[in-house]
Amino acid sequence: MPLIEVRGLKTYFYTEDGIVRAVDGVDYVIEQEKTLGVVGESGCGKSVTALSIMGLVQIPPGKIEDGEILFHRDGKVMDLTKLNPKGREMRSIRGNEIAMIFQEPMTSLNPVYTIGNQIMEAIILHQNLNKKDAKIKAIEMLRAVGIPLPEQRVDEYPHQLSGGMRQRAMIAMAMSCNPSLLIADEPTTALDVTIQAQVLELMNALREEFHASIQFITHDLGVIAGMADDVVVMYLGRIVEASNVREVFHNPKHPYTQGLMNSIPSLAAEKQRLEPIKGVVPDPFEVPAGCGFEPRCPHAMEICKTKMPDLKEVAPGHTTACWLYE
Ligand code: SF4
Repeated sequence: MPLIEVRGLKTYFYTEDGIVRAVDGVDYVIEQEKTLGVVGESGCGKSVTALSIMGLVQIPPGKIEDGEILFHRDGKVMDLTKLNPKGREMRSIRGNEIAMIFQEPMTSLNPVYTIGNQIMEAIILHQNLNKKDAKIKAIEMLRAVGIPLPEQRVDEYPHQLSGGMRQRAMIAMAMSCNPSLLIADEPTTALDVTIQAQVLELMNALREEFHASIQFITHDLGVIAGMADDVVVMYLGRIVEASNVREVFHNPKHPYTQGLMNSIPSLAAEKQRLEPIKGVVPDPFEVPAGCGFEPRCPHAMEICKTKMPDLKEVAPGHTTACWLYE
């Protein structure tokens, strides 16, 4: 059962230097109570898809040019692109139904308010509880995300918490209104690996406990191995490969996905040499005419320079956009 269906989404930014097609015709589905991993390097459009779902890009210079974001809830379907981003309905969905956490919690947490006050603010705004009950709920949420001594921590300021604890506090705030979708944008990138593993485990546990879905955005394919059910790989605002997580890991088809796989260090392989993908993501104002990955692709052919490949099914439920599979 889908929770979110993104159909033909195009989100552009109209700048003085030209149009940035940050998301350029993207389709994917987030199933209920499942995790979708969205993978790609910086500048591939992963975060803009998330901000489009949240209704946070329809402010100039950003604009949703085309497409639908269908939100399935209680037997009803609503197209989020049709809602006024500043209107009551969208504000209620944002926070109540769809919550988001970011890479660096310090940029989202207000340094002059206690952790408790910030969680309580979200609860009071969206759940209509009084201050006393909101504080009880805030403590409950801090406990749920594994923060020790939550009765004490609730009155502490963000700078008094470690990076890992701050991210847990952000997750507590995001989950406090029991959203059906949690969008996590590189939530563990700034954390050490051990803390990263704990936060991933916590997110998996909360997803089950709260019956939520997760859209997990990362540049690191390795991170989503134990996290995601389905994966979409994005490059230059488009999806270049999509399937379930096993298929993408065991049978990656697109040269970009294969490049990402070769960049993951393995403890099992002896003396393994990592092979980073050569080059960088092209300037958004100088996007290649054909396949966007052509300047970096070890398998590029003549046709790749001039014609953009469409997504095609290469195995049941596994699609990729590459001329190699034509
Ligand atoms: Fe490489 Fe061509 Fe496939 Fe693009 S379409 S990924 S350039 S082989």
